Amino acid sequence: MALIVQKYGGSSIPTTERIRRVAERVVRGHDEGHDVVVVVSAMADATDELLALAGKVDTAPAPRELDTLLSVGEQVSSALTAMAIHALGASACSCSGRQAGVITTPAHGGARIVEVRPRLVREALDRGMIPVVTGFQGVCGEDDEVTTLGRGGSDTTAVALAAALKADVCEICTDVDGVLTADPTLVPEARPIGHLTHEAMRELAAGGARVLALSGAEYAERYAVALRVRSSYDDHPGTVVSDEPERPPPYGSPARVVGLAHDRSHIGYDALVREDDVGTVSLVGSGLRSHAGILLRLRETLDRMDVPFEPVSASDTRVCVPCRASLLPDAVRALHKAFLEREPAQFL
Ligand code: ASP
Ligand code: MG
Repeated sequence: MALIVQKYGGSSIPTTERIRRVAERVVRGHDEGHDVVVVVSAMADATDELLALAGKVDTAPAPRELDTLLSVGEQVSSALTAMAIHALGASACSCSGRQAGVITTPAHGGARIVEVRPRLVREALDRGMIPVVTGFQGVCGEDDEVTTLGRGGSDTTAVALAAALKADVCEICTDVDGVLTADPTLVPEARPIGHLTHEAMRELAAGGARVLALSGAEYAERYAVALRVRSSYDDHPGTVVSDEPERPPPYGSPARVVGLAHDRSHIGYDALVREDDVGTVSLVGSGLRSHAGILLRLRETLDRMDVPFEPVSASDTRVCVPCRASLLPDAVRALHKAFLEREPAQFL
């Protein structure tokens, strides 16, 4: 029997029908004898819709009021999910950020979790219930002011809760089969990566892979929380993120490319800020910088795409190159072909 924190993102619960499906899955895990704690995001576009509402009454809404408003999205999901679990004959209770003991810094709109005191969650588990916690929100200060954690923050809630509960695993349930070698909307051949270290996961998130929020990846690394990123719909094993290697590293620890990430947003880079459509593409792996063969292949591949090889940053775990947004899709596809089409490329 394990203690599992299961997080469901907004794309997994766009409708009440899909909330029922999630509830069935949660109850199945519970029936198998596991202690299950659920963390939910707001349903599909609910957060964007709330933001749009705010914009209609104030062009510069007060951050405090915005947090009060945005936190509602997750409240709706947690209450409905708890009801759906109840309807299946299991017992569940919704918990707000405050009730789950999520204490944050006072930075409205971008608060960081400083501590989780999950007393109520533990009590609910002890009584055989399934706690359903609102992601993305917490409280700060003596008056329990409501805060939110920044976009994608439900991942961080799940990881922090898993750390506080000393859960066996934190499952990030999403609409893809795990962390893929590249964005599947650009690269249809992208495949799930079986195992990642926390560092590689953090580098992918930092490079723009949207499957896990960067702050969630950072938190998981800092507190050594084992993650499993997997599909909400099937039993594909997904991606395990942990610092225990799946198999012992081969002799000599070769350089290795595990995945690609890209980001379409601007980079703070003097020479490029005037160019309004600049993104980045990042190669993530190990031993990257110290291996001439990898950098050479990277440069040759980018040369063929007319992308200048001018890394913004290069470390052994990530090489990040600026790339015109219009060239990004082709560059990502070409790099995937060069480095990841077969099993993870290894360079001795
Ligand atoms: N609902 C929030 C957002 O849309 C948090 C999350 O989804 O993780 O960013
Ligand atoms: Mg997300």
